[in-house]
Amino acid sequence: MQYGAYSTDSLMTITNRPDLVFESGEGSWLTDHRGKRYLDFIQGWAVNCLGHCPPEITAALTAQAGKLLNPSPAFYNGPMVELAGLLTANSCFDRVFFANTGAEANEGAIKLARKWGQLNREGAFEIITFGHSFHGRTLATMSASGKAGWDTLFAPQVSGFPKAVYNDIASVEALIGPKTVAVMLEPVQGEGGVIPADLDFLMALRALTEQRGILLIVDEVQTGVGRTGKLFAHEHAGIAPDIMTLGKGIGGGVPLAALLAREAICCFVPGDQGGTYNGNPLMAAVGVAVVKRMLEAGFLADVAAKGQYLSQRA
Ligand SMILES: *Cc1c(COP(=O)(O)O)cnc(C)c1O
Repeated sequence: MQYGAYSTDSLMTITNRPDLVFESGEGSWLTDHRGKRYLDFIQGWAVNCLGHCPPEITAALTAQAGKLLNPSPAFYNGPMVELAGLLTANSCFDRVFFANTGAEANEGAIKLARKWGQLNREGAFEIITFGHSFHGRTLATMSASGKAGWDTLFAPQVSGFPKAVYNDIASVEALIGPKTVAVMLEPVQGEGGVIPADLDFLMALRALTEQRGILLIVDEVQTGVGRTGKLFAHEHAGIAPDIMTLGKGIGGGVPLAALLAREAICCFVPGDQGGTYNGNPLMAAVGVAVVKRMLEAGFLADVAAKGQYLSQRA
């Protein structure tokens, strides 16, 4: 379509978009180029956890944009340190690496697990994942995903991701061998159709991985940061995983993601991991605003109550 002096044909086609251009958003509402308003049930792709243009994010972005945009990831900056502190103080994890997208955080988790396997499990590198899972769109995270057709889409795949059956502990046990370093799953399969893991299954997975000396990785890119009424969805099962990834909601709509791990697993040495924008203060300042809002009294209880209302009315 034509939009002023420009055409949407200048964009590469990666999806079929309707002939409208969104220009503004507020709370639950979006407004297009003709001034038509839409009640938005999508909210980005499950990213705007505080709605469109919430005042705390606008304030955080504005203040940080006038103060410091990017001192380089070779140095500490205030929002990066504060956000890591908030996340570790409110989870079972001890250290954080920031990234820009969920896929990038998951790539980091895969690399961290493989490095840990080199050091502790004689080079074990296989990560058991699940049918219908979704972990991102990089080559490794597509290979980790259990989406139909993705095994051949950009062949060859990255190897080392055998697939078990979700909610079937025996299928996981059957795949564990000398090359296995970890099991990775979404506590609720999001793209797969909003399929929750049974709490018993999560507990059994934690017990099994501990017993076999391998890592448990939770991909909480979609379930994390308040989405299920707890700060992180694995808390419902009362388990402490070894590695967790966050994305989507943590940025409240801006590109921010995180890789978190317990101290004993943090085996990256300088040179192993990085990225030009990791921990940049502009996005980290938004993460701080989002997490502080979630930790306010009553916020998560309200999410839980609304979730219950919607699931009972569905
Ligand atoms: C969206 C999603 C990802 C990928 O995140 P991107 O920011 O799109 O790279 C990974 N895992 C899960 C569970 C997701 O829902």
